[in-house]
Amino acid sequence: MMHHELEKYLPANRIMTKLSEREAFAGDKWMKGPTPDVVVRPRTTAEVAAVMCFAHERAIPVTTRGAGWGYVGGAVSNSGGICLSLDAMHSIREVSREDFVAVVEAGVVTADLQRAAREMGLFYPPDPASSAYCTLGGNIATNAGGARCLKYGVTRNYVLGLEVVTADGTIFHLGGRTHKNKTGFDLLGLFVGSEGMLGIVTGATLKLLPAPPARRAIAAVFAAISQAANAVGAIFDAGVLPAALEIADEATFAHFLAQHGLPPQRGAHVLIEVDGQIESARAEIAEIKAVLRAVGAWDIEVADSEIEVESLWETRRQFSASLSASGKRKLNEDIVVPRGKLVELVEFARVLGEKHGVEVACFGHAGDGNIHVNLLLDSAQLERAEAILDELFAQILTWGGAITGEHGIGLAKKRWWPSAASPEVRALHQTVKAALDPKGILNPGKWL
Ligand SMILES: Cc1cc2nc3c(=O)[nH]c(=O)nc-3n(C[C@H](O)[C@H](O)[C@H](O)COP(=O)(O)OP(=O)(O)OC[C@H]3O[C@@H](n4cnc5c(N)ncnc54)[C@H](O)[C@@H]3O)c2cc1C
Repeated sequence: MMHHELEKYLPANRIMTKLSEREAFAGDKWMKGPTPDVVVRPRTTAEVAAVMCFAHERAIPVTTRGAGWGYVGGAVSNSGGICLSLDAMHSIREVSREDFVAVVEAGVVTADLQRAAREMGLFYPPDPASSAYCTLGGNIATNAGGARCLKYGVTRNYVLGLEVVTADGTIFHLGGRTHKNKTGFDLLGLFVGSEGMLGIVTGATLKLLPAPPARRAIAAVFAAISQAANAVGAIFDAGVLPAALEIADEATFAHFLAQHGLPPQRGAHVLIEVDGQIESARAEIAEIKAVLRAVGAWDIEVADSEIEVESLWETRRQFSASLSASGKRKLNEDIVVPRGKLVELVEFARVLGEKHGVEVACFGHAGDGNIHVNLLLDSAQLERAEAILDELFAQILTWGGAITGEHGIGLAKKRWWPSAASPEVRALHQTVKAALDPKGILNPGKWL
């Protein structure tokens, strides 16, 4: 039995074999996947390397898992074998004020690092909406984004160093704790966003920034999503770069209001956050308020303290759950379009929904052109989902957009990988994969 052999490399209490234990590691937030044959929860990089040597010798599939908060089935053990969970490697080894870095194990929950940095007057900007649950290793493997990407960039922009174990158990230390480093190829970049298919991230050195002393926010309602999308351009025209710029369409806002017992109101919602020195944050909010008024916003609400800012975000954070509470199956597609196509995108999504008789709700990171297009399907409509998504993704690609901005491809978007990447680019992916994982044991059956 595989687990008896694994006991040579890991303590027995780090090897889960009971069905009930394994089931807890079977799915992610997109799908309930097949149960892995065994779950291992190593505590050290050396243990991860030992498990990989074992699996490599026997060509056993290994699916790496952070918290299982992914949205595309990436952490699902769809080929059986070993589920390698990093959740027990959750120590923040160091937060350095001198070097502005954090050294972490891969299983650290993102919000725990954000908090630890804050306590030292430092700031880790990547902020996926799942930050209270997801891991930094998962964020690195998916190159996670979030609301603050507009000003601060995505996870890739904060990875200075990585500790990675490749399929044959070799341990690599890439990069380091300097904020610049041009030694050799950008191998760090190769592993960021590789969705567990090129190696297992066991540790990382992450860049920190000085914490901005003030955050301010403003929320508003517009008559229609197209007007809200236009407001995005107007804010940039005013020379302001907010930290976050989020919009939600009429359907999303209506579900939110209904879900929270609030009076119905037809409108699209906008939330904008700025940060920096107190006076500059105030001045920027005043400028944005004037712009919003000029382009037709109503119900403008300014958050003038940290608590008020969080309260506006609480509304925004409820949007996804409010759509799920509709009782329909929610397919959340995190597509991206060039920023100039935002208005056309929301209009296209509306027409697509009408054409297929399906409810479509859009919300997301408008400043990045990264909008979550949600199909809300009843059981009779489920079989049409792929055809609707074929149309959506074809249009996105025609505009020069991308089928995923932050969630990844995993299993959910496997069908569209061939249309999203040219034959040459796909062949290059296969070459890199074959060089690092010649037996194809890391996350097999996904999109490569
Ligand atoms: C409500 C909700 C909101 C979300 N909001 C956002 C958002 O704003 N922005 C965003 O980017 N994403 C968002 N997501 C998606 C998800 O949370 C992110 O993809 C997150 O990075 C997943 O982290 P995880 O630890 O849960 O990874 P998992 O789901 O466990 O794994 C994700 C992928 O990474 C691989 N992986 C995990 N850990 C490692 C490792 N240590 N080494 C190598 N490979 C690894 C897995 O094999 C898998 O392919 C959201 C999800 C939900 C459910």
